[in-house]
Amino acid sequence: MSRFTDRIAVVTGAAQGIGAATAQRLAEEGASVAVVDLTAERAQATVDAITAKGGVARAYGCDVTDYEAVEAVFAQIAEDFGAIHILVNNAGITRDNLFFKMPKTDWDAVITVNLTSVYNCSHVAQKYMCAQKWGKIVSLSSRSALGNRGQANYAAAKAGIQGFTATLAIELGPFNINVNAVAPGYIATSMTAATAERVGASAEDHQAEVAGRTPLRRVGQPEDIAAVVAFLASEDASYVSGQTLYVNGGAR
Ligand code: NDP
Repeated sequence: MSRFTDRIAVVTGAAQGIGAATAQRLAEEGASVAVVDLTAERAQATVDAITAKGGVARAYGCDVTDYEAVEAVFAQIAEDFGAIHILVNNAGITRDNLFFKMPKTDWDAVITVNLTSVYNCSHVAQKYMCAQKWGKIVSLSSRSALGNRGQANYAAAKAGIQGFTATLAIELGPFNINVNAVAPGYIATSMTAATAERVGASAEDHQAEVAGRTPLRRVGQPEDIAAVVAFLASEDASYVSGQTLYVNGGAR
């Protein structure tokens, strides 16, 4: 399979977890991948995994909450690879707390990293995509957008991504740019391991508990999400835009 031959993809927050799996999946299918995380050093492990399999990737350090830093690093990526075709807005954090205990700093941090960064990267990327009349933007929302105890900040940011996605699809569609989102359920990564720790459970016990109430009787893996992001970034989904696809093992 080589759905992404000659395509240049940027994946944010790609040092680990879903971002790393997505960068690897896109590279396996032929994309040249800019692996972006807070530091290039952190992103290098993903690059090494890609190049070890014969893929093409390069590590970039960028705090995606900083618009000027995003502008600079995307310009560097476009110079290094020659274009930007695919953007995966994946960088995210959680700062969970019941709302009455949630400090403003944790509200601001989650909104900025999970939502404002999506504005920053999409706003910069669309300049390249509109000029070439081709682009794919896929952003990571979450099942928590529907509401989740202890995640008022995160739910607001992830619901915001869904409205943002629907709107960008309308505005950027005439430039042949597809804009979609993926809303994962529980995926086994450092993020959910931290959630387990916060509630006093081991990652294994927490996953077993979630698997037990998930129709497919397992939690998700980063590769499950990477496969769906790859679909939405591919020409297989060329008539899909403005959608949020829930990927959660059948949970309602
Ligand atoms: P991880 O915490 O494993 O990975 C997120 C990555 O983003 C980390 O490498 C992190 O770096 C990086 N990052 C954080 N802040 C910034 C920033 N300002 N600039 C650049 N990079 C940054 O998360 P997951 O893989 O679990 O999640 C990926 C995405 O999927 C997130 O948007 C998340 O909200 C979403 N998601 C995850 C679910 C899950 O169950 N895991 C469910 C639903 C949605 P560092 O570690 O150095 O902070």
